Amino acid sequence: MECVFCKIINKELPAYIVYEDEDTMAFLDINPVSKGHLLVVPKKHYSRLSEIPQEELKRFFQGLQNVVKMVESNLSKHYNIVVNQGELAGQVINHLHFHIIPRYGNEQIFIWLTHKLSKEEAQEVLEKLGKNLIV
Ligand code: AMP
Ligand code: ZN
Repeated sequence: MECVFCKIINKELPAYIVYEDEDTMAFLDINPVSKGHLLVVPKKHYSRLSEIPQEELKRFFQGLQNVVKMVESNLSKHYNIVVNQGELAGQVINHLHFHIIPRYGNEQIFIWLTHKLSKEEAQEVLEKLGKNLIV
């Protein structure tokens, strides 16, 4: 098996595991953005959120919520949850994972470079999504 996270899940590779239930596991990221940066993964290998059957997703999210509660109680009530999907979005590991990045107020926050949404842009996107523009 090639997948690093599957190896961690199967205990073939060491990791600092902080949560485990039947469907979900969470462990420390080896290159943390902040103290307590965690990765929460479904134990079954899926590359994308869109691939998980809904029943499994429900159980995975229950685990994710348990981890979030641990973070809120013990680390920080401020955190980013990030999911990178696809190479262009920065997904390096092909096993779906939710980053939980606790914030303490002393670190660089993600910078969002934004622009003002024009009607044309909205129209283009809505068309792609098969929705009518109602303005
Ligand atoms: P992504 O860029 O969203 O695919 O994130 C992959 C993350 O996995 C990165 O933040 C890496 O630091 C982390 N990572 C890679 N290998 C390991 C490992 N063996 N144990 C823990 N975290 C890992
Ligand atoms: Zn995997």
